Amino acid sequence: MTIEMSSVSFAYNGGTKGLPVLADVDLTVPDGEFLILLGPSGCGKSTLLKLIAGFDKPTTGEVKVAGKTVTGPGKDRGMVFQDLDSALFQWLTVRGNVEFGLRMNKVSDADRKRQADEALRMVNLSGHVDKLPDELSGGMKQRVQIARMLAMRPEIMLMDEPFAALDAQTRQMLQTQLVTIWSEVKRTAIYVTHDIREALNLGQRVLLMSAGPRAGIKHEYEVPLSYPRDQTDPTYIDLLDKLSKDIEEEVTKVWS
Ligand code: ADP
Repeated sequence: MTIEMSSVSFAYNGGTKGLPVLADVDLTVPDGEFLILLGPSGCGKSTLLKLIAGFDKPTTGEVKVAGKTVTGPGKDRGMVFQDLDSALFQWLTVRGNVEFGLRMNKVSDADRKRQADEALRMVNLSGHVDKLPDELSGGMKQRVQIARMLAMRPEIMLMDEPFAALDAQTRQMLQTQLVTIWSEVKRTAIYVTHDIREALNLGQRVLLMSAGPRAGIKHEYEVPLSYPRDQTDPTYIDLLDKLSKDIEEEVTKVWS
């Protein structure tokens, strides 16, 4: 499903020092794209994602999904959060967590089992279905969150720094797994990160956001490389360099 934002501004209760967090954001995400929102902490990446999810409404402007104005959350959009603990129901097993949304939506027993099993297979958790979140590593918890989203079969997958709290090795493994899943389900994915390598490992296109308040999209970078990304490819190295300089400029603005 295509996502369109036009002249979107957003302020939390009057804004940061009276200014909106986001101002005049125009954005089109074609169906099936893997898009990255990259930017310094606090610039408004999560806010932008929440507007697409429908958790918040733009102060001005409009967000459209498949041509329809977003007025709230919907089954067409699934979300994965950064939190390792608060995002999962601690009293439910892995299967219980993955099936939760399907139960809420009164999906039949047979479909619920099939959709949950398929999602658990995609994240390699089929052998851990009876475990409680307490018994899982951080990486496994995030895979449960991804499976929970996949089980609902959303057209759009929204991910807010899902691997930020994990160690570098686990993060890299999950990045690879996520690209495989995305290629299999062929859905639109929007992924928020402040990590440049993560952006280049995952995205077909990277949007670099300016520092807030009144943040917007500063530059857009296409990543014309196949998956898995070869970090020694001259194009990868060149993009890494350009993005590092571009983001550094924004971080400097925040601190000056
Ligand atoms: P990022 O995801 O880029 O780190 P956020 O979208 O979380 O940035 O936050 C952007 C700005 O909005 C920050 O200045 C943050 O303090 C502020 N902010 C975020 N959530 C709220 C909220 N619920 N109420 C008020 N201000 C908020």
